[in-house]
Amino acid sequence: MLLSVVRRRTRQLRLEAASGLAVGWKAVLRSGLCGGVGAGAGAGAGAGVRLRFGPSPTGFLHLGGLRTALYNYIFAKKHGGSFILRIEDTDQSRLVPGAVENIENVLEWAGISPDESPQRGGSYGPYKQSERLDLYLKATETLVMKNAAYYCFCSPRRLEMLKKEALRMRQTPKYDNRCRHLTSKQIEERLAQGCPHVIRFRLEEGAEPFEDLVYGVNRLDPASVEGDPVIIKTDGFPTYHLANVVDDHHMKISHVLRGTEWLTSTAKHLLMYKAFGWDPPAFAHLPLLLNKDGSKLSKRQGDLFIQNFSQNGFLPEALLDIVTNCGSGFSGNRPGRILEELVSEFDVTKITTHSALLDLDQLPDFNRIHLLRHVENVSSRQQLVTELQALVEKEYGDKLMDGEALCTDYAERVLLYRKGHITRLQDLVSPAYSYLWIRPVVPHEQMLNLSTEGEKICRVVMRLFQTWPYDSVTPAQLNSELRALQAQFTGTKYSVMMKFLRLVLSGQQQGPSVAEMMLSLGPKEVCQRLQQAAIH
Ligand code: GLU
Repeated sequence: MLLSVVRRRTRQLRLEAASGLAVGWKAVLRSGLCGGVGAGAGAGAGAGVRLRFGPSPTGFLHLGGLRTALYNYIFAKKHGGSFILRIEDTDQSRLVPGAVENIENVLEWAGISPDESPQRGGSYGPYKQSERLDLYLKATETLVMKNAAYYCFCSPRRLEMLKKEALRMRQTPKYDNRCRHLTSKQIEERLAQGCPHVIRFRLEEGAEPFEDLVYGVNRLDPASVEGDPVIIKTDGFPTYHLANVVDDHHMKISHVLRGTEWLTSTAKHLLMYKAFGWDPPAFAHLPLLLNKDGSKLSKRQGDLFIQNFSQNGFLPEALLDIVTNCGSGFSGNRPGRILEELVSEFDVTKITTHSALLDLDQLPDFNRIHLLRHVENVSSRQQLVTELQALVEKEYGDKLMDGEALCTDYAERVLLYRKGHITRLQDLVSPAYSYLWIRPVVPHEQMLNLSTEGEKICRVVMRLFQTWPYDSVTPAQLNSELRALQAQFTGTKYSVMMKFLRLVLSGQQQGPSVAEMMLSLGPKEVCQRLQQAAIH
């Protein structure tokens, strides 16, 4: 009887949808896309390893989301399995425009591309829950038919009163399951009257304990702490709990790896698997990820959005280092690992249950390590050269010195000399390195204050550059040549001579060694600057 009610109601909703009465259900008709999904196959049973990342597009991807995605990716790849991106957009009121694209683009940028996703497609699509409504309705029909789910007509006002009453009695608010007891006739009547309703899952008491791969045995009996949960909302969309279970089953997900905030929902999900008669996947929950001071990460913490890090010159590997080094799942922490190493070193049994504290203070150093690696690799170096040229052009534009400032060889030389010293490419266009791109203007007074032999120093060093095999020289060799020149100056000590040269070449009092500055600038530019200083 109930089944026929559900079927009739489904038909009615389809009609409403067609006539534009129920927006949410319209998508069911429009999509009609879920037919191809092979229903009934037990997830994990004989199937390959398949993990999914299921973000809700309620904001752009941040470090917390990246961590969940990364662990799913490495778990899948470790076992030769697939990594799937599924967009969980059933809460239509909280969608953020652009978030879906942002999430997938960030995963690509981070190098953890999904094998199946909204953009890539795959055999188990669609990969957005809002396009799978038909599937949830069919699943709900099944549950109602089995008497494992039921219509609930309780008004928001009644639910609010229940809540207030519970709080007054100092009890945890929970739905009192009143509509469980409606007869078919009562349901029919209310539906005929067009009463707004939801569908709830009947939480049976006595949930069996389950083994979480990280947290161990869990004995939570959801029915003892909460009322029957809503699985289909008044707008016809499923809630997270139903959609999640239905999709994990139909997408043949073998392992669910997600944040620990979902651990208490898992017992409820397992009751749903049981009601459907489906084999559940294995579950592993990741410990909480907190700020360094122990406070909760917030989706509104703009500084944690991945795109902000990438726009500020941080490399994806440095972010992966940040989330893996504060977490667990590896024998030891070690910055500088690349993705392949993370995959080979990952061990799910090493995931601990204590919270992980994000230490963003380490980010510059982690980035420095990966930047150094990229500079040393010929092909990634070319990419960095191009990026550096663009940064220089943007920062200095018309002010750029004539000559080779924008030449590929020049940028490459700068990178090779500064590798291991800079934390981001952007450092190279900061004021401290402006001398690389624009000629410094050094007041004559300032030079005189350092040495009265300035002109002579300039000429002697220029001569050295004219006669010397500049190309094959290291900074250390050049430095000893400079040291030897000092003997020619009676009133200027070596350290003062070097200060003077540094000032003339860079306008700065600190920075890389004078020899390195000279070798990066190149003989022509060095002579140009010395000449300029000499004629003052
Ligand atoms: N949509 C949920 C979230 O954004 C996913 C939870 C899960 O992985 O089951 O956290």
